[in-house]
Amino acid sequence: MKRFARLTTISALLFAASLPTGAAHAQLAPSAAAPTQASDPSEARKANIVIIGTGGTIAGAGAAATNTAAYQSAVVPVDKIIASVPEISKVANVKGEQVFQIGSESFNNERLLKLGKRVSELLKQPDVDGIVITHGTDTIEETAYFLNLTLKSDKPVVVVGSMRPGTALGADGALNLYDAVLVASSPESKGKGTLVVLNDEIHTGRDVTKSNTFKVETFRSPFGPLGYVVEGRTLFFRLPARPHTMQTEWDIDKLNKLPEVAVVYAYGNVNPASVDAAVKDGAKAIVYAATGNGSVGDYMVEPLKAARAKGVQIVRASRTGSGAVIRNAEQPDDKYDWLVTDDQLPQKARILMALALTKTNDSKELQKILWKY
Ligand code: GLU
Repeated sequence: MKRFARLTTISALLFAASLPTGAAHAQLAPSAAAPTQASDPSEARKANIVIIGTGGTIAGAGAAATNTAAYQSAVVPVDKIIASVPEISKVANVKGEQVFQIGSESFNNERLLKLGKRVSELLKQPDVDGIVITHGTDTIEETAYFLNLTLKSDKPVVVVGSMRPGTALGADGALNLYDAVLVASSPESKGKGTLVVLNDEIHTGRDVTKSNTFKVETFRSPFGPLGYVVEGRTLFFRLPARPHTMQTEWDIDKLNKLPEVAVVYAYGNVNPASVDAAVKDGAKAIVYAATGNGSVGDYMVEPLKAARAKGVQIVRASRTGSGAVIRNAEQPDDKYDWLVTDDQLPQKARILMALALTKTNDSKELQKILWKY
């Protein structure tokens, strides 16, 4: 506990040194109070939460308060974000750690692995009760699904972002971060896999997806959120049905490289050359983000069959945004030795296929994995 309190204070002081005098007082007050809280009996019940900063709009800043969509993301350090929400120190002992400062569209396999490994290291520390990751909203759903499948811990891990920078009118980041810390601190969140918290809602990393380019209510799960966060309380109503964290076959500590999996997006007049390019580039699987229930245009069947003949796994997914793709319905998958997603969106199927290919290249086994997670 003490270590957390001291680190929070140090980071607040460092941050204060970089602030104009007036601002420093406002920001420093809550964190500076941390050491005296150690004698408060309620301190014993406070969780130790590490907040990992990776960038995104929650770390963004605009030129004017009216800039809700035009601003620079990934510029505010995580310690400064934490210091701007003094209410957090009343619910948890927090410590910030900057792992990246990027827009989440810049995540790739290497960064995903680096983040996951650091989260895993922290989760092993007995004095860490939970993790919050501040993250851009664009790919929050991919990172959360990846962590949901690969972390080996029951401790809560919550990924959080915001749709408006902290400088904007109606900024949502402060409340989202406060809520994320509450969820990460709650014993109720244990064993529920990686969670995503935004806009008063708690989602499972498996299901959640960004559905709108600018609205604060952009995140949705096709079957609804797991619960709400309101007035400092976490309210869970549902449980994730699919295996996650402790129940999966992947361990982030043992993953050092992910196989290349390409997503080819279908549209009227889709160019078969995009399949050939993925194959030439060494893709081990192609997730075909098909129309409707995984339909494949007549002129795309041969290029996909040719890719399969070269050993590349073909996964039919749907670009519709929800619903399961049915095996052997729109296409004879058994005959072509193709695979189908369950209800995973193409970008999530890409994560699952990359992980699945670290275990097997047998198409029957791969299909079982796609249906399981
Ligand atoms: N494109 C940026 C990102 O994903 C900003 C979007 C956001 O965080 O809301 O990091």
